[in-house]
Amino acid sequence: SAKAAGSNQWSFFKEQMTERAAVRLRTEASLHDALKNNEFLLYLQPKLDISTNKVIGCEALIRWKKDGRLISPMSFIPVAEETGIIIPIGRWVIEQSCKILRDWQKKYNFALPIAVNVASQQFADPSLVPDIKQMALRYQVRPELLEIEITETSLMNDIELAISKLEQLKSAGFGIAVDDFGTGYSSLSYLRHLPITTMKIDRAFVSDLPNDSAIASTILMLGQQLNLSIVAEGIENQDQLDWLRDHNCPIGQGFFYSQPLPLEEFEMKYLASKNALISHI
Ligand code: C2E
Ligand code: MG
Ligand code: MG
Ligand code: MG
Repeated sequence: SAKAAGSNQWSFFKEQMTERAAVRLRTEASLHDALKNNEFLLYLQPKLDISTNKVIGCEALIRWKKDGRLISPMSFIPVAEETGIIIPIGRWVIEQSCKILRDWQKKYNFALPIAVNVASQQFADPSLVPDIKQMALRYQVRPELLEIEITETSLMNDIELAISKLEQLKSAGFGIAVDDFGTGYSSLSYLRHLPITTMKIDRAFVSDLPNDSAIASTILMLGQQLNLSIVAEGIENQDQLDWLRDHNCPIGQGFFYSQPLPLEEFEMKYLASKNALISHI
């Protein structure tokens, strides 16, 4: 009967929910252990000046080394956000990045900016701004060497709050990039009030190049009008890069230049010799 079917569906639904909740709890518990046992790593992916092929910065991307395997942030960041453990994980990412910047200064007498991703919930945390300032101070990192990447969607959650936080970060000297630009629902009228320094064109629009270039062109124009730096994400081939160069996109990032690399490899490739800062692809 319909009623029995409905009830079956309900119990199926309940089972699914219970299963989901159980998976979430298990993942949360192991994320706690992961923090305690130092199972997170930062990989670094270079950002290049498209016209000179020079490395001008990098993005820190978290990995979880669990039982010898590397787990992608896409599979644990959402759970970390749901459970709140993103706050200490995010703090770890920022602290680690500050340490790397301090070490580069000591080892190579060289400064290359690092961009860190800040999750929505972490951005909403009142201690984010004081935490970042305090860590930069503790590791003696010049604020302009640390760039905060926030997705367009997180910024639009509460625009007034976003503006006031970004103002605090910007006036302290940190760089601010809007990540995955074009995938959220920015109100264009608010965009010009946001104290940001950079827009990152989402990979989805870069992968459409060169054939379908309407969105990428529009974002580039918008960035130029608003006096923002623009990074094209996810460049995978020469044709995409050629289009971006022809359209004056200043900065690029993607597998075509380099995959995200473990810290030691990144240092060897890009910092151990200054010549290496120029890519030869
Ligand atoms: P995102 O910040 O937009 O980072 C770019 C993602 O695109 C990275 O994936 C990077 O490896 C990947 N990527 C770069 N170039 C290419 C390319 O040419 N082709 C393709 N197909 N992919 C490319 P990853 O490292 O798996 O990170 C995925 C997302 O997880 C990030 O997107 C970011 O939203 C989040 N994430 C990563 N690390 C952190 C972190 O430390 N904290 C927080 N809150 N989120 C993070
Ligand atoms: Mg990012
Ligand atoms: Mg992105
Ligand atoms: Mg993304």
